[in-house]
Amino acid sequence: MDKLTNKVAIVTGASKGIGAAIATYFAAEGAKVVVNYASSKEGADKVVEAITANGGTAIAVQADVSKEADVIRLFEETKNAYGTLNILVNNAGVYQFCPIEQFTTDSFHQHFNINVLGSLLAIREAVKLFGDNGGNIINISSEVSKMPMSTGSVYAATKAALDAITIALSKELGAKNIRVNSILPGSVETEGTHSTGITGSDLEKMLIANTPLGRIGQPDDIAKVALFLASDEAAWITGEKISVSGGIYGF
Ligand code: NAP
Repeated sequence: MDKLTNKVAIVTGASKGIGAAIATYFAAEGAKVVVNYASSKEGADKVVEAITANGGTAIAVQADVSKEADVIRLFEETKNAYGTLNILVNNAGVYQFCPIEQFTTDSFHQHFNINVLGSLLAIREAVKLFGDNGGNIINISSEVSKMPMSTGSVYAATKAALDAITIALSKELGAKNIRVNSILPGSVETEGTHSTGITGSDLEKMLIANTPLGRIGQPDDIAKVALFLASDEAAWITGEKISVSGGIYGF
């Protein structure tokens, strides 16, 4: 119950899905958590209420990670509330799938601005706020970064970019004792997979068939590994891309 005592963590996109689970796990281990969201205030407030009802500490902060001024404000509000920062989880992300004939520049910019630019902006601000003891950055990537799937070229490109950022920054920031790692989830049931129609689809059946452990993941499956990476148990792990996917071997 004390793996993250006295730590302050920002989890982007924590109003639902994987981010909400990570925020909840971190708070249960003693972290003071900033539950970021873009538009789902109700969802973020529910996550904060559940954390505080369980004896934890959390606040909800609205910020669209694709907007520089919002990201700067997110970190200012974190500093005002908790004074410092130890852990950043870049989880906020979007994923849409479509044939290349329907590719649009709007879709490109939405994916890259949220999944890639948003992560870079957040890391820049985190590095400024981390204290003298260093910090910890966890980028929520995807198995598609190493196994891109048909109709997912744009999304896969954002996650491959995120993994490249993980490797580059692990080298750049290691001397400051800042660890940077990617988690690559397989298919995980979330509000996002319900709203995009993945849950219950033929695609999901194919994903399960290609997963040795024979099931779709749940947000807790990812949160447990994020907790490990955020904790001192992972003190000598940086620059890694860790698959959490039931062993999925193809899309
Ligand atoms: P989700 O259920 O759709 O939730 C997305 C979260 O991101 C929400 O909290 C949403 O906030 C937030 N968000 C979206 N755009 C944002 C923005 N511009 N600024 C700040 N927050 C924003 O998604 P999920 O399935 O949990 O996925 C979470 C992450 O895991 C994503 O990076 C995704 O690519 C990755 N991932 C998911 C799966 C999967 O199968 N689910 C697999 C591999 C990787 P609002 O609700 O306020 O919009």
